[in-house]
Amino acid sequence: MKLDSKIPEGTIDQKWTKYRSSIPLVNPANKRSLEVIVIGSGLAGASAASSLAEMGYKVKVFCFQDSPRRAHSIAAQGGINAAKNYQNDGDSTYRLFYDTIKGGDYRAREANVHRLAEVSSNIIDQCVAQGVPLAREYGGLLSNRSFGGTQVQRTFYAAGQTGQQLLLGAYSALQRQVGMGAVELCARHEMLDVVTIDGVARGIIARNLITGEMEKHFGHAVLLCTGGYGNVFYLSTNAMGSNVTAAWKAHKKGAFFGNPCYTQIHPTCIPVSGDHQSKLTLMSESLRNDGRIWVPKKKDDTRKPTDIPEEERDYYLERRYPAFGNLVPRDVASRAAKERCDAGYGVGKSKMAVYLDFAFNTARYGKTEATKRNIQNPSHEEIMRLGKEVVKEKYGNLFDMYQQITGENPYEVPMRIYPAVHYTMGGLWVDYNLMTTVKGLYALGEANFSDHGANRLGASALMQGLADGYFVIPYTIGVYLSTEVTRMSAEKDKADSIDKLKTKHPAFDAALKEQTDLINKFLNIKGTKSVESFHKRLGLIMWDKCGMARNKQGLTEAIAEIQALRKEFWSDVRVLGSADEFNPDLEKAGRVADFIELGELMCKDALQREESCGGHFREEHQTEEGEAKRDDVNFAYVSAWEYKGVSDWELNKEELKYENIKIAQRSYK
Ligand SMILES: Cc1cc2nc3c(=O)[nH]c(=O)nc-3n(C[C@H](O)[C@H](O)[C@H](O)COP(=O)(O)OP(=O)(O)OC[C@H]3O[C@@H](n4cnc5c(N)ncnc54)[C@H](O)[C@@H]3O)c2cc1C
Repeated sequence: MKLDSKIPEGTIDQKWTKYRSSIPLVNPANKRSLEVIVIGSGLAGASAASSLAEMGYKVKVFCFQDSPRRAHSIAAQGGINAAKNYQNDGDSTYRLFYDTIKGGDYRAREANVHRLAEVSSNIIDQCVAQGVPLAREYGGLLSNRSFGGTQVQRTFYAAGQTGQQLLLGAYSALQRQVGMGAVELCARHEMLDVVTIDGVARGIIARNLITGEMEKHFGHAVLLCTGGYGNVFYLSTNAMGSNVTAAWKAHKKGAFFGNPCYTQIHPTCIPVSGDHQSKLTLMSESLRNDGRIWVPKKKDDTRKPTDIPEEERDYYLERRYPAFGNLVPRDVASRAAKERCDAGYGVGKSKMAVYLDFAFNTARYGKTEATKRNIQNPSHEEIMRLGKEVVKEKYGNLFDMYQQITGENPYEVPMRIYPAVHYTMGGLWVDYNLMTTVKGLYALGEANFSDHGANRLGASALMQGLADGYFVIPYTIGVYLSTEVTRMSAEKDKADSIDKLKTKHPAFDAALKEQTDLINKFLNIKGTKSVESFHKRLGLIMWDKCGMARNKQGLTEAIAEIQALRKEFWSDVRVLGSADEFNPDLEKAGRVADFIELGELMCKDALQREESCGGHFREEHQTEEGEAKRDDVNFAYVSAWEYKGVSDWELNKEELKYENIKIAQRSYK
C-alpha cells in the first residue's frame, strides 16, 4: 500500500493522548547526535526548530529571507483560533473539530483535525507565556472575535498584526536556541533539492543567495515548513517571495502531492486596479466581524455608497445565509461576491467589487461608549466619533493600509473589496506523524495538505502551523528518529556508513551537480522574454481556468496552454546576471519553472475531481442555488499525486472515513 495514514487506534478523543504517550522516546544522549534540518522560519518552522532544539536535537534552520522574522507568517492579520470557550458561548474541542471538518466541506482527515482542536488551547498558553501581546478585555482576560464559518467567538488576536506578534514569540524562542548553539541559522539560503539515499531523506542542497555558492547539508530528518504556493496565480495576497520550490523538489524525489487543486480565494481583498499590479492586499476576515457586506439593489448604480439609502442596499450574505450572515466561510462568501458582480451589481470603476461597510457597527460601538461615559442624548456625530475610536483600536492598521492603497478613508466610506487568491489547502501529503511518502522527510504548516480539507476556516492556519511545530512534531518525530538510533548503532563499525560519510556520500555530489547544471541551463538559454512575463502569463491561465470557478473545457485548455508555456520558457526565457552573485532574477527563474509544473498538476487534479467542494468549484456540479455539490460516493478521498516524469503523474487515493461527524450537504442558512 503506497499510502498509510498511520491513524492511531482508539476513539477520536483518545487517539492523540494515547498515541503520544506510547511513541518510542529518544534518550537525551542520543538526541545530541541526531541532526534535524528545518527549512523555513515562519510559524511552523520557527516553532518546530525551537522545540526540537530545546529537546536536545542538533538543528539547522534555513530561510531565504535575510532574517527568520521576515517569513510570510508575519503578514497574518486577523487572528488564531483556539477552543478556550472564554466567551462562554458554547465552544468546545468537539465544536472546533466539527466546524473545521464542515468548513473544509468534508474533505479533511478526522483524526488530524481532532488533534488540532485538542492542542489549540495549549498554543494560546504557550504564546502568552512567551509574552505575545494578545488583545485583552478591560479586566485583563484575553479577548476574542468572530471569524467565518463559526457561530462562536474563538479567535485570539493582536490588533491586525497577529502573525507578526506570534512570529516574534516563535522567533525569540528560536534565537534563544541560536544563542545557545543548539540551532545553526542559515538565512539567505534557498533549498534547491532534497538528497535521498535509498529512498530516505538524508539532507539538502542549498544555494547561498548572497554568494551563489552551492552547499550540501546532512540531516537525519528534514522538515519542510516552506509555506503555501498561492503565488502560482501570480497575483495573490501572499508575500512576493512565497513559492513552491522546496515542496516541488521533494515531490520530484518521491513525496506525493495532496489535493493540489484546493486553493482558497479570500473574499475581502482590495480589488485589482490595473495590469501592472504584482501584488494583492488582504483586508482581514476579522473585518467581517464588524463590517456588513452589500451591493446596491439596482444594477449599474453609480451613486456614492453613502447616498444609497438603506432600503436600496442588498446585504446579500445576510439575505442568503441568515444563520451565519457575513460570517459564512470564505469559499461561500467569495462565490457570492462573484455572483453579484457577474450579475451586474458590482461597484467601483471596474464593477468587480462589493462594499464592506462599518457604519452600522461604528454607530453601535459609539452608542455603547456614550452610555459608558454617561453622555446624555449624544448627537450622531458624537456617536460616530466615539465609535471610530473603538474601531480604530481594533482594526486601525488595516484601515490605514486600505487608505494608503486606495486613497479612500474607510472610516467615512465603505471599503471596496473583491476575492483574491490567499491560501493553498493542498500541499505535500503527510501521514498522522506529518511524514511525507519519503522516509525521514516531513512537511509542516501550510506546506502540507493536512487539516483544512477543501476550504480552510479563517484563523486556522496560524493554529495549524503552531500546532504542528510546538505540539505535534516534537512527539511524532520520535517514531522515526528512534529507529535511526537503532540503525546508527548497527552501522557504527561500517567505514562507509551514512553517519560517517554524511555529505561526502556520492548522492550529495550527484544532487549538487544536478542543481548546478540546472542553474547553468537557466543562464544559458539567453532568450528574449523575462522570467516575470512567464509568471504573469501562468497566473492568468490559472486564474481564468483554475480559479474561483472551473470547468472541464477550461481545465483541458489550461493543461495544454501550460505545457506550451513550459516549452516556451525553456527555450526563450532570459535570466539576467550570473550564478556566483546575489541574483534575484535567477532565484525567480527556478521558482517560476516549478510553478509552471505545479500549475499543470493543479489543473489535472481539478479536472479529475468531478464534484464541487469548498474552494474547488466545478461549474458542472452545483445545486440549483449555485452552491457547491459534492459527490461523496465517488470523491470522498484525498488525491495524492505521485511524480513519474514531465507531465506524468499517477493518482493515489486516501479514502476519507467519517466516523464521528455525519457527512452532510453544508448549510449556513
Ligand atoms: C495577508 C495574509 C494574512 C493572513 N492572516 C491570517 C490570519 O489572520 N490567521 C491565520 O490563521 N492565517 C492567516 N494567513 C495564513 C497564514 O499566514 C499562513 O498560512 C502561515 O503563516 C504559513 O506559515 P508557515 O510557517 O507554514 O509558512 P511561511 O510563514 O510562509 O514560511 C515559509 C518559510 O519557508 C522558507 N522557505 C520557503 N521555501 C524555501 C526554500 N526553498 N529554501 C529555504 N527556505 C524556504 C521561507 O524563507 C519562510 O521562512 C494569512 C495569510 C496572508 C497571505
